[in-house]
Amino acid sequence: MIPTPGALELVRSVQTGERSAVDVVADALARIAAGDGTLRAFVEIGAERALADAAAIDARRAAGQPLGPLAGLPIALKDNLLRQGAIAGAGSRMLADFVAPYSATAVARAQSADAVVFGRTNMDEFGMGSSTERSCHGPTRNPWDRTRVPGGSSGGAAAAVAAGFAPLALGSDTGGSIRQPAAFCGVTGLKPTYGRVSRYGLIAYASSLDCVGGIARSAADLALLLDAIAGVDAADPTTLQATAGECRLALGVRTDLKGLTFGVPWELNGPGLDADVLAAIRQTHSRLADLGARLVDVALPHVPHAVPTYYLIATAEASTNLARYDGIRFGLRRDGSGSLESMLTHSRSHGFGDEVQLRILLGTFALRAGWQDQFYGQATRVRTLLRQDFTTAFARCDAILCPTSPVTAFPLGARIDDPLAMYLCDALTVPASLAGLPALSLPCGVGDGDLPVGLQIIGPALREDLLLQVGHVWQQHTDWHRRRPPA
Ligand code: GLN
Repeated sequence: MIPTPGALELVRSVQTGERSAVDVVADALARIAAGDGTLRAFVEIGAERALADAAAIDARRAAGQPLGPLAGLPIALKDNLLRQGAIAGAGSRMLADFVAPYSATAVARAQSADAVVFGRTNMDEFGMGSSTERSCHGPTRNPWDRTRVPGGSSGGAAAAVAAGFAPLALGSDTGGSIRQPAAFCGVTGLKPTYGRVSRYGLIAYASSLDCVGGIARSAADLALLLDAIAGVDAADPTTLQATAGECRLALGVRTDLKGLTFGVPWELNGPGLDADVLAAIRQTHSRLADLGARLVDVALPHVPHAVPTYYLIATAEASTNLARYDGIRFGLRRDGSGSLESMLTHSRSHGFGDEVQLRILLGTFALRAGWQDQFYGQATRVRTLLRQDFTTAFARCDAILCPTSPVTAFPLGARIDDPLAMYLCDALTVPASLAGLPALSLPCGVGDGDLPVGLQIIGPALREDLLLQVGHVWQQHTDWHRRRPPA
């Protein structure tokens, strides 16, 4: 098969009528049918509905109507985003039969831009994991090496884009769930500023951290997606009122990185990194300098506390968000021995996997009366200090650089029995999440075994345009994002 074209090229070909949307979608479905048997990026494909949606777009074009900016683009959907009439299962037995009564704002906006949003990509249950091994559907495999994990929790989405099944995927990122799998699978991933994209219709994990974003082959394709889905939404009061510029238009502004200063905090560029990741990042730094950027040292002194802070806040919020799955209003129901308590116990013990149960317990512990201030309260204070670290650093630089992950894709099973080792995978992604800042992961090299390494660029709030510009310049001068995994 010829390689999948990028999103921009596909949209142009559908808008001009060179290709039909049905043809583009059928091509994606054929790739999935040929390749997803072993990868298992999707838990459901929904071919019929995707083709019908594509045919409706073709009919509108045939009737002389202009098509939107995502015309005919197949966009793979993470299993925790609602699409009306389709199951949204969040990788959990709890929601195995949950049919979405409405669509998430990001989904509805992509559809009104004429994208074909389809399928359900695999994920760690409720977004809790870094490897996609914590899904009730079993793991997804990494297209670069099928004995390894694709990262998580949006591992299905990243594997689908890397394998050429879809040019774009919608995902969510609470503490790294878009960026880390993008890095592990050698694709490009964007976590927008908290509040830039509506969370309406995203199955909640930790509401003060959850962000909807995308995975693509290139920064240019992500700009196309973000412009379509971002913006204030009355259904999500945390969406930001501020108007930020169109990212697509900003891409052409630069051909190099002259005039830009990047901060390199040692806290994120040394401790705990595997040697191969460190070597790839050092080469990336010198390449960025060749492109005209100035690199300066900055300090983020509270970053060493980011992982415990994140895991206190995320589990505390998850314990309250997941309380709604009681088998009465929402979720799977297992009858017990007649009492309400035994029904609840049976439903929740059977519906939730081990990691989710562990986190509900941790979160409940962190919030319990009399101790809340010592755990949750303390974490929120450290979160404020971390935000201040970033504000101080941005007085000296335009964006901050570090690897996306301290390691490359690890073997399936390697960390599953060691929660701490799994949580430490997030050490470099949770700081931007806690501070609510936008961050982009770009393929920037390879480590041992030719496995992809990702560069993370963290920007000031609402500066996705700058991150995508930098990414676009990088991708015009490098070929890492053009490498394809073996078929
Ligand atoms: N791995 C992190 C966690 O388990 C982040 C996951 C996410 O961003 N959803 O919480």
